[in-house]
Amino acid sequence: MTISQDARLMSDRLFGPGGPVLQPTGGYRDGMDLTRLAPQTGTAFLLHAGQRLTVVDPTGEQVSDFFAVMDDDRDEWFSSGRTIDYANSTAVTTGSVLYSNRSRPMATVVEDTCGHHDILLTPCSQQTFDLLYPEFDGAYHPSCFENLATNMAAFGVEPDRISTTLNIFMNVWNERDGELHIDPPTSKAGDRFVLRAEADLVVGLTACSAEKSNNGVCKPIDYRVDD
Ligand SMILES: [Zn+2]
Repeated sequence: MTISQDARLMSDRLFGPGGPVLQPTGGYRDGMDLTRLAPQTGTAFLLHAGQRLTVVDPTGEQVSDFFAVMDDDRDEWFSSGRTIDYANSTAVTTGSVLYSNRSRPMATVVEDTCGHHDILLTPCSQQTFDLLYPEFDGAYHPSCFENLATNMAAFGVEPDRISTTLNIFMNVWNERDGELHIDPPTSKAGDRFVLRAEADLVVGLTACSAEKSNNGVCKPIDYRVDD
């Protein structure tokens, strides 16, 4: 794989010389034409039944939060609890079905080259940084919650509707006593996670804003939608 000079220059600007290298958005991974989310940003869009959403970690070690509601009823939303119940597992990988709060399938995972994702934790929010990261001293910090709320508002989704997210590429595990650990993502550059929608969905997607969840540096996320 060749790395364009543009990508090298952009990577150096973001991370300093010798840092991670951003792969060019177009033309890699079998010619996949991807849309890039800049670090600490998000988006929202309609994903129709049968369409596939591919989420790619272009540099490695970057989390992407996913949330969805049904397009025909904003009161039906992705439920991590139902999803865990019916799978009898907190693992999400190829074959997993994401359920709504009304127990309808919303999406199925059809490809996963990473293997470590999280459905226990909520999207990072301003309050997350206020409560858990005293080093920020209460200052404004971009967050997945803000990015989901802002972008999903355009589709009539209220902020209070946004619940526990599917945190793609997030590496969370727990001790037998229940203590949680958030380790650097195991994702490598080019790893991908593909969902097939089982109903018409409004989807929110982010490049996670929490430095500690992303091994110290917030990086971009690439995605695409296919019919
Ligand atoms: Zn986040």
